[in-house]
Amino acid sequence: MDQVHRTSAYTGRFAPSPTGDLHFGSLVAAVASFLQARQAMGRWLVRIEDIDPPREVPGSAAAILRDLDRLGLKSNGPVLYQSTRTEAYQSAIEILLRQDKAYWCGCSRKDLPASGIYPGTCRNGLAKGKSHRSVRLRVDSVSIEFADLVQGDIRENLDTEVGDFVIQRADGLPAYQLAVVIDDAFQGITEVVRGADLLDSTARQIYLQRCLGLASPSYAHIPLAMHSDGKKLGKRYGTDPVASVPAAEAIFLALKFLGQSPPRGMELEQLWAWAIENWQLASIPHSA
Ligand code: GLU
Repeated sequence: MDQVHRTSAYTGRFAPSPTGDLHFGSLVAAVASFLQARQAMGRWLVRIEDIDPPREVPGSAAAILRDLDRLGLKSNGPVLYQSTRTEAYQSAIEILLRQDKAYWCGCSRKDLPASGIYPGTCRNGLAKGKSHRSVRLRVDSVSIEFADLVQGDIRENLDTEVGDFVIQRADGLPAYQLAVVIDDAFQGITEVVRGADLLDSTARQIYLQRCLGLASPSYAHIPLAMHSDGKKLGKRYGTDPVASVPAAEAIFLALKFLGQSPPRGMELEQLWAWAIENWQLASIPHSA
């Protein structure tokens, strides 16, 4: 019955990588995605993107979840760990290979030109003397366009700006682009709200969705929290994690950063009630 009476099928998500403490930059993405979901009376899910063991900081997934809990950011359903989803990624990669939408590549980073755009060396079969390393998606000459809810109309020519990109890394791990697309579909995500550092991944993700016959969610990319010297806040906040800031103050600061005008001095619960009531995506500045 709950399903029937839901006024919206909206499903949003927050998908941190467990590479350190929750920092202000991620908090802002968490708050924005949470409020979009709450205002739409939809669901908000947390997904831990732990598919990159070399970059993982032990204990950080648990620390991030503790912080979210303390801040009143509760997932409407069990937390999904990408480390449990290997088979789904593997089968998507196999399907793409079988359909010749993807191919094995034997090139290493040093084979790439300075532009980083893959010149297609192994496109029609492994280049001579090379062995299977990574799997690349075959990118056709296509322009991907989408209307970002914060950044406006975005268009990317995938073939000239990105080229055939890796969906399975040389170490055998699925690439972020692949995993994120599979799980956004698996979790029924209808809108992705995240940091603008991922804006230029979006065309790749939309292209992958098309290759796999998956629906595309809508996207909203919020500006990155920067220090005055232009450094991404996330890096430095490592020494000053959100965990060290009182909950109501952290949420207050995140709301301010997001262009909202929360009243001062509210308790956490009151502040959330205010935020859900007054949330305006349109007030988010386009850049920090
Ligand atoms: N796991 C990514 C990060 O922490 C975010 C992925 C996403 O939101 O699509 O940067």
